[in-house]
Amino acid sequence: MTTEISDERREQLRLRYLAERDKRLRPDGNDQYREPTGRFEHFLDDPYTDVVDREAVTDEVTVAVVGAGFSGLVTAARLVEAGVQDVRLIDTAGDVGGVWYWNRYPGAMCDTAAMIYLPLLEETGTVPSAKYVPAHEIFAHARRIADTFGLYDNALLSTGVTSVTWDESSSRWCIETDRGDAFHAKFVATGTGPLHRPKLPGVDGLEAFSGDIFHTSRWDYSVTGGSPSGDPMSGLADKRVGIIGTGATAVQCIPRLGRDAGELLVFQRTPSSIDVRNNHPIDPEWFASLEPGWQRRWLRNFTVLQTGGFADEDLVMDGWTDISQRIRDRVVARVQAGDPLGPETALVAYEESDDEKMEEIRARVDSIVSDPVTAEALKPWYRQLCKRPCFHDEYLQTYNRPNVHLIDTDGKGVDRVDAAGVWANGVHHALDVIVLASGFEVGTELSRRAGFEITGRAELTLGEYWRSGMRSLHGTNVHGFPNLFILGFAQAANLVSNVPHNYVESADAIAAVIAHAVAVEAREVEVTKEAEAAWLGRIQPRQGSVIGSPDCTPGYYNNEGKPLGEDQQLNGSGFIDGAVAYFEYLEAWRSTGHFEGLEFR
Ligand code: NDP
Repeated sequence: MTTEISDERREQLRLRYLAERDKRLRPDGNDQYREPTGRFEHFLDDPYTDVVDREAVTDEVTVAVVGAGFSGLVTAARLVEAGVQDVRLIDTAGDVGGVWYWNRYPGAMCDTAAMIYLPLLEETGTVPSAKYVPAHEIFAHARRIADTFGLYDNALLSTGVTSVTWDESSSRWCIETDRGDAFHAKFVATGTGPLHRPKLPGVDGLEAFSGDIFHTSRWDYSVTGGSPSGDPMSGLADKRVGIIGTGATAVQCIPRLGRDAGELLVFQRTPSSIDVRNNHPIDPEWFASLEPGWQRRWLRNFTVLQTGGFADEDLVMDGWTDISQRIRDRVVARVQAGDPLGPETALVAYEESDDEKMEEIRARVDSIVSDPVTAEALKPWYRQLCKRPCFHDEYLQTYNRPNVHLIDTDGKGVDRVDAAGVWANGVHHALDVIVLASGFEVGTELSRRAGFEITGRAELTLGEYWRSGMRSLHGTNVHGFPNLFILGFAQAANLVSNVPHNYVESADAIAAVIAHAVAVEAREVEVTKEAEAAWLGRIQPRQGSVIGSPDCTPGYYNNEGKPLGEDQQLNGSGFIDGAVAYFEYLEAWRSTGHFEGLEFR
């Protein structure tokens, strides 16, 4: 079903979107944010696990996997399945899980359906409790993957890698850590993740605040009381709490804060778009009736539909596939009416569907939020994919509580912080606790986010090699860095709606390559210079696409609104024919057993 929006209204929307973007554009872009230093240095520490003394490790393994989040876990699991037994996971965290280890804020849950978001459900015999599951269940699933594939035995947790260096004479990588380890690995895979290094709002006076202050990724339950599984935060019952930021994280924790805090003040710069979540339990009997191999079918079905393709049925049926469905219906209608089938028709269909969706999202705010001024301030004026779309059935309702106050700053952000609270719009708000929901570093140097440098042949570091933009085959293999595998999604499928799907597919390919290298007793596997250069011709730059467009309101999806140079665009690029075509291509590439573009020596 489609709702017609008049041309006049469309024009109004265009102008309003641009005006709202312009209000928020700032010359400092990403540099506005502050690193967690000084008083906030501990935001990088692990508050959950005590570090246990152990002997330094100086042995050799076949594969070292740096980062034990979903990318590292899935890759390690596939390697074990492929017969490579001595795989070593290394992580600064005291357990596996990556972002799902660190993020324990109240209300945290996946925004993509658990049936496809949680990898290896069939392999681990796991039934998700609901369509969207809470963070502690996701963390437990990560642990189950590690248990199922025996990944704990060899793992080095609470261990930060400090350097990964190629040793030409032995064709081995040497991995050094902050625990004194110096061991060798024939192959290294790095899955250090894009979203884990907290950044702080660029406002003066944060240090001066005399109350409690913490970042959402290190939720301080000793201050708030309660627990990640949802127990009431009794420590906040008589407190005035302020939260800075209204992104995907804040949207999930604000309902819990509203429920438990004496007073809650939400400092908003840009509202998120909040679509229906419609969560419901998963029936174990129905789950048991699924045919083996179901998860791969569900993954592909979601990705086909979400990226604009056609399928007989929509297995996942969520906010992501809904918008795509609308676009497809419009394309079909337009083509039947005589428009050509091509990118222009697709773009018009996309814009019309997006206008319709965003009008519904804004109408939803009016239908839920009783105070009209608050409702107006909560309406997003940008395209849905300009920022991470949010799905929640309690967030907007929270603003009807008498103890919850939205402090909208009309795109300006908070003015400053002092010992007693936060200034916004020239008004001081006294607070006992400040929660920073200000997000994570995205566009900064890889080595800064990862915490170590990778040095390949001829002492060239990966940072130097990629100084003028990322270069790779499949986003995975890099010339001059033999036996190294980067776990990510740039220069590959670049699928952001379901990040683990990228890892599930790439893990199959990486396990096949490493198993082959072991079988043929190759000392080195390396992408040729030519294959790497040719791959750059098969990916397209991020900018100008729907996600990351400079027309969007600023955020981490579009480099805070600063147009990217050609080189930088390489870092966020994806396969030219889209995610589904990429997965099909990669499957065919690995299945031939030739691994074209790689040299086995
Ligand atoms: P974001 O970067 O999305 O949000 C940061 C927020 O802080 C924004 O609202 C930003 O406003 C605001 N902000 C920054 N500086 C100021 C300031 N000076 N004054 C007022 N507000 C300010 O971080 P999140 O942690 O919310 O989300 C990061 C990502 O993590 C998500 O996009 C998503 O990919 C992932 N995530 C996934 C979840 C899931 O799947 N379950 C759940 C939660 C997060 P502005 O918008 O104006 O920049």
